[in-house]
Formats: sequence, structure tokens, C-alpha cells
Amino acid sequence: MRSQGSAFRLFLFLAVVLGVGAAASPASAVRPDSQAVLSPIDFQILNRPAPVRGADDRRHMVYEIQAVNQSGMDVQIRKVAPRAQGNRLGLPFTGDRLESRMRINSGASGTTLGPGGSAMIFIDASYGLARRTPKAISNAISLAWDDTASAGDVVRQTFIGVSTRVSRQKPVVLSPPLRGAKWVAVNGCCSMNPHRGATLAIDGTVRVPERFAIDFVQLNRQDRLFSGPLNDPFSYGYYRTPVFAAAPGRVVGVKRHLPEQVPGSLPDGATIQMAGGNYVVVNIGHGRYAFYAHLATNSVRVKRGQKVRTGQIIGLLGNTGNTDGPHLHFHVMNSPSPLQSSGLPFVFRGFRGQGFLRNVVGIQAGEIGNIDRRRLRGRYRNVLPMEDQIVRFGR
Ligand SMILES: [Zn+2]
Repeated sequence: MRSQGSAFRLFLFLAVVLGVGAAASPASAVRPDSQAVLSPIDFQILNRPAPVRGADDRRHMVYEIQAVNQSGMDVQIRKVAPRAQGNRLGLPFTGDRLESRMRINSGASGTTLGPGGSAMIFIDASYGLARRTPKAISNAISLAWDDTASAGDVVRQTFIGVSTRVSRQKPVVLSPPLRGAKWVAVNGCCSMNPHRGATLAIDGTVRVPERFAIDFVQLNRQDRLFSGPLNDPFSYGYYRTPVFAAAPGRVVGVKRHLPEQVPGSLPDGATIQMAGGNYVVVNIGHGRYAFYAHLATNSVRVKRGQKVRTGQIIGLLGNTGNTDGPHLHFHVMNSPSPLQSSGLPFVFRGFRGQGFLRNVVGIQAGEIGNIDRRRLRGRYRNVLPMEDQIVRFGR
């Protein structure tokens, strides 16, 4: 659950899991050839986005673009601006904002792809609730490269393309998988974090199962993550708290015997198969599957094929798999496979916002939570908690 600061090391199930997605399909509008330009970079959208309302009272259109420089030149990506219905959709990604959302596969910084280079661009296009949800989106893209014919000159190119239809599936409405106050939605929507960055090619295809995943941890009375030794799981007051089914369905995947890990660092030699630790996958209908991960050793109370009802205890929160501290990793995906699926948005029927945690990295080192009690506070219905929002579930 290590967040941001420690980059892609986060707890979780991390960079390990990926997902099958409805392949993005070209939206209808194809520009006439007379306006077409020859672009040195190929851009492919990985998923058909399904917008979700966040606790920030905005709708979020979340998708990834894979960029491959097909030329032998250095090409700078200067702007990616999501568009819909002939207008901008959210703020354009340029400068630092683009750089923070772009991961160049060579490890280079900046936004320039070398010859044959490639990158992943992680888009969150958010817009006001009054705006109608578009049926399709596209992106205005600006590129620049040195003019090979004229030393010192720069060629600039802008085009609108890279389009996809928008999913018509509404986010599934869930009950909370946990109960009680001061749960923190670590690595939640919609910034760049280890969940979002978990884009590994599984059997040769990039999957993004954790696109909307949340790592839930709970602050104690002193607003700390733990009291006592950092490496003792029982220092974390919420360790072995019950995990509840968030929706009814049939259990289609279970792992139960993996050992507990020592909090404070990630285990050595974690494989992708053990990344989620002990887990339960429930088919909740309409092509959606709920995933509850890192459950305590031998605590899973359901078996494959069993029907579960909302609120039923399915296991206890633990610290198994690729994890550096007790937490519940929860997400919804479009297949029963935690590795080969595409992450889908979801909302919780009701919760109370208790503020925003400013020092998510600090609490993992023992700091007292630095809480902004004015931000993301109040009663919420049918929305997705935002990253590092503090929430109370139930009464
Ligand atoms: Zn996670």
C-alpha cells in the first residue's frame, strides 16, 4: 500500500495484475483523407472507457493510451487533449501534467520517444456532472521533431484522432466490503499510482485489472496506521477484521493457504500467481467480478461454487501475497481472472466522507495522519471514493 512516494512499489497486488478489456473500438468519425496527416507515432487506446462519478462530484473517464514511435527520429509528444462532442473533455495533458501521466518504457524521463520507443499514457478526463456523457471520445495530439531537411528547424504536427466508443455499462452499485470508521482509500482513483501503473503484458497482451482498485487501510484512535512494532501485523488494529461480500453472486475463485508476510517490506520473489495472496473472486453478474485480495491465512470462509449474499463474511483482512502491510485490496474486473482482466468502475451505495489524508506515505512510517477535514467530507451516495479519502462505512 505504499503510495506514490515509493513509486511503483506499493503494496499491492501491484504491478502484477492486469486485465482483459473490451478492446477499444474506433469511433465512427474518420476524417477524410484530404485532411489526414502521416504521424510518426501510433497511439492505441487499451480500453473502452466507462465513466464513473467520483466523490469529488465529477465524472471520470479513465483510459490508457499506448504510444509507439514508428520512426527513426526522436519525437516529442507535446499534448494529449481528450475531446468529445467537438469540445475538450477535461484539461489537456501538456508539460509537467503530461510527463506525470506518461511512462516511457525505456525508463527515460520527459515526453520524448526515441527511435522505436514506446510509452503508456494514463488518462483521467474528468468533467462536471451537468455535462452529458459522450458516446465516443477522441484525442487532440500535438507532436514535434527536428526537421531532417533543415537543421535547427522543428516540425510541429497536431491532429485529432485516437478515438474510441464510450462503454454504455453503468458502474455497479456495491455495499462496502468493510465496516467502521476511518478507512483510507489508498491508491484509489484517479491519479497515477501503483494500481493504475500495473500494466504488465500477460501472455503477450497488456492488461489493466487494477484500474479502479482501492487498498483499504484503517486509522486507529490516534489517527495512526499502527501502534507498536511496524513489522508485527497485530500492531495494525484492523488486522483480521471481517471482509464482507459487497454484492451477491457466486464464488468462482478462491485461494486460502498462502502464509502471512512481515509488514514493512514487500516479500522477496513474489510471483504474479501469488501477488493477490489469499483471495476470493465472486461473479456478481453482468460480466463483472469482485476481487478481494490479501486475506488472512486460512481465513476464507467460502468455497468455489458457493452463492454469497451481500454482507456475508467471506474472510478476514490479512497481509498475504505481494504486500508490505495489512490491507484489503478490492476491485471489480470483467473476467474471473485477477491477471487477465480489465478493471471496471464501481460505486458504493452509501458512505460518510471524513476528510482527506495528506500524508499517506508518512503513516506507513508511523506518522500521525495529517487529515484535511474539510475536503471530501459529508454523506455520499452512489459514488466512487477518491484516492486517500477517509471514509466511514455503516453507522
Ligand atoms: Zn492493491
